[in-house]
Amino acid sequence: MAFNIEKRHIPGAPQKAYEKGVGKPEIIVCHECGNDKSTFEGEIDYMTREYRVAFTQYIVGGGGRIVELADPNYKAYGAGPKANPFTLHIELARTKDRATFEKDYAAYVWLIGYYLPKKFDIPFCFNAGRPGIVTHKYVTKTWGGSTHQDPDEYLARFGVTIDQLEKDLKAAYHSEDEPVRKPAEVVKSDSKEFKIKVIVDSLYYYTKADWNAKAPKPVKKNDVFTVVNTLTVKGSKMYKLKSGTYITANTKYVKVI
Ligand SMILES: [Zn+2]
Repeated sequence: MAFNIEKRHIPGAPQKAYEKGVGKPEIIVCHECGNDKSTFEGEIDYMTREYRVAFTQYIVGGGGRIVELADPNYKAYGAGPKANPFTLHIELARTKDRATFEKDYAAYVWLIGYYLPKKFDIPFCFNAGRPGIVTHKYVTKTWGGSTHQDPDEYLARFGVTIDQLEKDLKAAYHSEDEPVRKPAEVVKSDSKEFKIKVIVDSLYYYTKADWNAKAPKPVKKNDVFTVVNTLTVKGSKMYKLKSGTYITANTKYVKVI
């Protein structure tokens, strides 16, 4: 499942490039806010006010909500001067309510394990150096510049060990979710079906509404398919077929019959 990301960028937050450049973080850091008295909104207000001291690009809480506090293409102040130049930070607000925690945790795992690694091309590697995903505690131990030990103790309150977090992030990383980038827009959704015929010798089709999701074997000239919908994916038209797969709508390759 995909989560919504609410953009509430902190006015005035600095926009400084990562060590490798704008849009090139190498590490995603898992945090938790460490404050039993605060609330999700309280944490957002705090970082919005105190961004000169500390802020992260994302915070999760409030029962599965994700708020983007700053443009993730630039570094934030989340884990001290040693690691900040190459790290992207995700905070998790505390709750005492298990149901709220479970929703928060699902959003946290999706954001850290699935969305951000795909967005920034970060391979799956956990608490094992650059590039990859680490805990704030790992940053303190490995690169220094910080004393924090989160998020271990807070997650443990709900029975989530760091080993479990790693397993959940890994499963999210490998999940076959819908494409993270711009989803397909339906431009024509009348359910009238029609048929098309392949007019080139060999043509790839797709397992998802995504030009990268090529099926392993192409189809052949004169093969006929039933179209159930027409989509625009990254600016080019694609037909959704009755079988649940997708094919180009380009008239150089297929013809409506
Ligand atoms: Zn932290």
